[in-house]
Amino acid sequence: MHEHSVLNPATEEVIGTVRATTAAEVAAAVAAAARAQRGWAAAAPADRARLLRRFATVVDEHREELARIEVREAGHTLGNARWEAANVRDLLEYAAGGTERLMGRQIPVAGGIDLTILEPLGVVGVIAPWNFPMPIAAWGTAPALAAGNAVVLKPAETTPLSALRLAELALEAGLPEHLFQVLPGAGDTAGSALVTHPGVAKIVFTGSTRIGKQIMARCAELTKPLTLELGGKSPNIVFADSDLDAAAAAAPMSFLDNAGQDCCARTRILVQRSVYERFLELLVPGIESVVVGDPSDEKTEMGPLISESQLARVRSYVPAGAAAIRGTAPAGPGFWFPPTVLTAESPGSPAATEEIFGPVAVVLPFEDEAEAVSLANATEYGLSGSIWTRDVGRALRVSQAVRAGNLSVNSHSSVRYSTPFGGYKQSGLGRELGPDSLAAFTETKNVFISTEA
Ligand code: NAD
Repeated sequence: MHEHSVLNPATEEVIGTVRATTAAEVAAAVAAAARAQRGWAAAAPADRARLLRRFATVVDEHREELARIEVREAGHTLGNARWEAANVRDLLEYAAGGTERLMGRQIPVAGGIDLTILEPLGVVGVIAPWNFPMPIAAWGTAPALAAGNAVVLKPAETTPLSALRLAELALEAGLPEHLFQVLPGAGDTAGSALVTHPGVAKIVFTGSTRIGKQIMARCAELTKPLTLELGGKSPNIVFADSDLDAAAAAAPMSFLDNAGQDCCARTRILVQRSVYERFLELLVPGIESVVVGDPSDEKTEMGPLISESQLARVRSYVPAGAAAIRGTAPAGPGFWFPPTVLTAESPGSPAATEEIFGPVAVVLPFEDEAEAVSLANATEYGLSGSIWTRDVGRALRVSQAVRAGNLSVNSHSSVRYSTPFGGYKQSGLGRELGPDSLAAFTETKNVFISTEA
């Protein structure tokens, strides 16, 4: 049996070994999931809701344990990891509330009654990345289960442990066996087997744009629906009329949270030229004072990168001698990179256009609102963005003009379980979370009933 090791990215110590699921095992899991799904879909909606709420309660009771797993396998700070475990609980509770509210429509037609019925898809395959292993796994899993589906989840190679624990907790909560299965393993075997299995009705993929495109092409062969949550290169637009102190104070963690391994990271800081120098002066202490170190220490604000290869990738964007504001990072074992702001990049340079997925941002000046919008949109991505201004009209105009799925004004908040999330352009396809999240895991059936005698 093939196995692979899980490393603590802060120490490089091996903290576990998991088996690598084979394609044949994926097929067996999908068959078992299909059997479990039939019973689940037939159960009373209130009973499904009750079981999902119980799952949420069991997750809540194990929040600290789940958070500690994420600190160890993903290098997340303890504060973030606690939020992530709580987010799984919230996603399950929110989805449970939808099971009895998943309603079709009655549409006025001639000669009869027309009904739409929302039916579960069957078995849903969720393929998760390593950057937010628990929340992103639950984004797909919670609404899919609530809508009457079974879920087979393939976590990322580097971060399978929290997902495996969630599957155990689901059984402890009383969810039927095989309804929610977690299959650790490699993307090109276990992940690929899920994508190509005809018994998997939908794929929910979060990860890189490169792999997302490959999966989309393979789903096309089976006309299999999918959602894609991919990369980003999000702008943080700071206008001269903003509260500059607040904008500068918020900018560091908007791209340093999770060591920048966040698809919503605001890595292009666009600053109006008239306040550009002042903004940089305010930014310097904010970057230099970020506490980078042991993620299990409550005071730590930023932990390590996930792996050696991610560290090498991030380093390649920051050549020695680059004009930069730098923070600090520990030396020694672990995949550490300091907070970094590049101040002399051109708008078209690789650091300003490619997703680095590390604690690195560029800062670029702009003259006026039109140039700010044009720079913000000068990217193949369109996931998130922030707009700092005190002018309400400008906030709304720029929100309408920026082609991205998740914008925030005078804030960097992007993700809430109750609001829709997803990307424009090459950042993705479809939406997750929010009020329509269950409907995304259903087929709509239209039934016409003649009332003519
Ligand atoms: P990745 O694309 O390499 O892997 C993501 C997942 O896909 C993993 O579970 C992996 O095993 C699996 N996979 C890889 N090859 C596969 C294949 N051929 N078939 C099926 N599955 C396969 O990405 P990553 O390195 O885990 O994550 C980093 C990237 O993900 C970044 O580019 C980031 O922006 C993006 N991301 C986007 C979002 C979002 O919500 N938009 C969230 C997190 C990460």
